[in-house]
Amino acid sequence: MIKIVKFGGSSLASAEQFKKVGAIIRADQDRKYVVPSAPGKRNSTDTKVTDMLYATYAYAEQGNDFSKALKAIEARYNEIIEGLGLDLSLEEEFKTITENFKKKAGSDYAASRGEYLNGIIMANYLGYEFIDAATVIFFDENGNFMADKTDQVLSERLAGVERAVVPGFYGAKEDGTVKTFSRGGSDITGSIVAKAVKADVYENWTDVSGFLIADPRIIHNPKGIDTITYRELRELSYMGATVLHEDAIFPVRKEGIPINIKNTNAPKDEGTWIVESTCQKPKYVITGIAGKKGFCAINIEKDMMNSEIGFGRKVLHVFEENDISFEHVPSGIDTMTVFVHQDEFEKKEQKVLAGIHKLAKPDSVDLESDLALIAVVGRGMKATRGTAGRIFSALAHANVNVKMIDQGSSELNIIIGVTNQEFEAAIKAIYDIFVVAQL
Ligand code: ASP
Repeated sequence: MIKIVKFGGSSLASAEQFKKVGAIIRADQDRKYVVPSAPGKRNSTDTKVTDMLYATYAYAEQGNDFSKALKAIEARYNEIIEGLGLDLSLEEEFKTITENFKKKAGSDYAASRGEYLNGIIMANYLGYEFIDAATVIFFDENGNFMADKTDQVLSERLAGVERAVVPGFYGAKEDGTVKTFSRGGSDITGSIVAKAVKADVYENWTDVSGFLIADPRIIHNPKGIDTITYRELRELSYMGATVLHEDAIFPVRKEGIPINIKNTNAPKDEGTWIVESTCQKPKYVITGIAGKKGFCAINIEKDMMNSEIGFGRKVLHVFEENDISFEHVPSGIDTMTVFVHQDEFEKKEQKVLAGIHKLAKPDSVDLESDLALIAVVGRGMKATRGTAGRIFSALAHANVNVKMIDQGSSELNIIIGVTNQEFEAAIKAIYDIFVVAQL
């Protein structure tokens, strides 16, 4: 059995946290390949090392003396090294980093040093081999991740190594220039390593015991999600549920490798399993609720719209021309509504309105702003009758006015539009009817 273990920044923020991580890895012989993030925040007012590196590099790039700022970063690592009692010095590494900052090696290079150095410490602490991600993870000259080449090189490299540390977040272009994934990208590295060694499990260790059914800032102490499918997760993360980087599911999904989200501070908790598919019935009809505020609805009316072929295309063409992506387009016989992100739309609204009038010749167009969208997601909805009915009666009881309803034919989710103001009340009402009422 092979397990990949990825640890997030808060799991590696101090020597104390490193010790917990060490104990977790040593507790299971199958935990053979480790992907660390850079040290994160030690407390709520602390700064992540990655952010310190970006700031220091920006300062260096403007020609300032950055030695003090870099010393502060070095101190973060030395604190960990000393706390673990390791016989290791990063002095030479920091000399190289100073040189490369002076040579303007780029902000990706700068940020990547966070995981690179943490990887060196981790390998030393565990007695595992250190493999620089720049030698095994590749990007093309445009900065796109090269999945096939990476998989080939990485699987060959790891075939001969029983236990190794591969730092997260970065790789290199073919000319050797370091390139990072987007923020939070160590999750992606973990997934790539899992694929390369055909792991049995990808364990992603963080500071929460998996996914919660709803946002804890809205629902007090919400229940956790035991098992979620990749598709459900995609719907929820799109709507703002964040724990795992969105792109981290693709490499393992192809191989059918499950991801287990675990808590470094509570390792006995089972956490959440993310799987391709499962016979396991979810505990509740819904798997999760997520939502976002800040949408705008463009309501378009025209008599006999339904029989006018090409009307929808003309309307959507205007959005495309203005480089605005739409979220949902519910329609009626003589009406069509387009939901867009308000911040993206606001600057261009008059241009869009003029465009719709010109191209589609509607009877009227009106706008409604400050709307929120809520996704109620669950594979269990398919087999259960009356889910929509329960949602709407709960919302009616809570005095929430529903502005829009959209259910995909997959029956995996129901999207509901409400005003920004009623967003929290709506989520609470839905959580109560499906979870609290079920307890
Ligand atoms: N350290 C990087 C960041 O802060 C990547 C990661 O932690 O996954 O975004």
